Amino acid sequence: MKVLVADKIHEDGVKLLREFAKVDVAAGLKPAELIAKVGGYEILIVRSATRVTKEVIDAGERLKVIVRAGVGLDNIDVEAAESRGIKVINTPEAPTVAVAELVFGLMLAWVRRLPEADASMKAGKWEKARLTGSELRGKILGIIGTGRIGRAVGYKAKAFLMDLLAYDPVQNAEFAERTGAKYVDLDTLLRESDFVTLHVPLMPQTRHIVGKRELELMKPTAVLINTSRGGVVDEGALVEVLKQGKIAGACLDVYEKEPPVDSQLLELPNVVLTPHLGASTHEAQRDAAVFAAQKIKEAIG
Ligand code: NAD
Repeated sequence: MKVLVADKIHEDGVKLLREFAKVDVAAGLKPAELIAKVGGYEILIVRSATRVTKEVIDAGERLKVIVRAGVGLDNIDVEAAESRGIKVINTPEAPTVAVAELVFGLMLAWVRRLPEADASMKAGKWEKARLTGSELRGKILGIIGTGRIGRAVGYKAKAFLMDLLAYDPVQNAEFAERTGAKYVDLDTLLRESDFVTLHVPLMPQTRHIVGKRELELMKPTAVLINTSRGGVVDEGALVEVLKQGKIAGACLDVYEKEPPVDSQLLELPNVVLTPHLGASTHEAQRDAAVFAAQKIKEAIG
């Protein structure tokens, strides 16, 4: 079994692959070089950089499995692969902890005013009184989407003594029982939550699931957190409600356009922004590579 690793993946994944296959690592190939090379391999592994087009798939005469070590499959022509009977695998479970921890990083940054405090210290000040914050304890966290990440956020929220509301067309009874989360409709969640966090995939049904109407249902003291995909929030409407003080703030890791150059978000004082760091931990990168190798082993039996 020959495996071509076409983007850089964590060494632990490569090591595992070498236990049962012959592995060539060749990151950074140009499209024509990949097309020339791929014919000799049964398995192709990529991350997000390499585009696995129909031409690549057609050239991969022996391909049985294409693996994206990571979440999205937008760089792979899945239809072309499946029409040839090639399995397409990804590792959506790898970044769950990383994204859930980032949600708490953002919420704590917000309530304890960490970005402001850090900037103030570095400006030579000592502003204890001005930088008084608040606590997560006893606050209501509304989780939109209780899949892997939404549930991981919910379990951690219990440790912070937060109360949970949840909205998802597919309710998870075990999660509700273990956390005390109450499933409600979206409008109720938006009206009652102190923090609203989004964990839905971007699809036609979830595009702008939080738009102007939804933002205006939120409390003036509430904070919106988005670490899922930029398009699930109407960013123009968000800028407006933030400017008008209709909600207190937003913590964002993802944007409708990335990077969000020229976005008014960059000029607002009541936002905490990170550059799509959700999955960017060493552990999540390692897990993506190791889970990819494990899934290949299972797929080829
Ligand atoms: P998941 O598939 O386990 O969960 C998604 C949940 O959303 C499911 O429970 C589903 O029922 C629910 N859902 C679908 N449509 C909905 C709707 N209209 N309203 C409410 N809920 C709805 O996915 P996950 O692993 O929890 O990841 C969630 C999202 O996080 C991913 O789709 C991805 O876009 C994003 N993500 C971001 C980063 C990052 O770097 N910031 C990293 C990984 C994942």
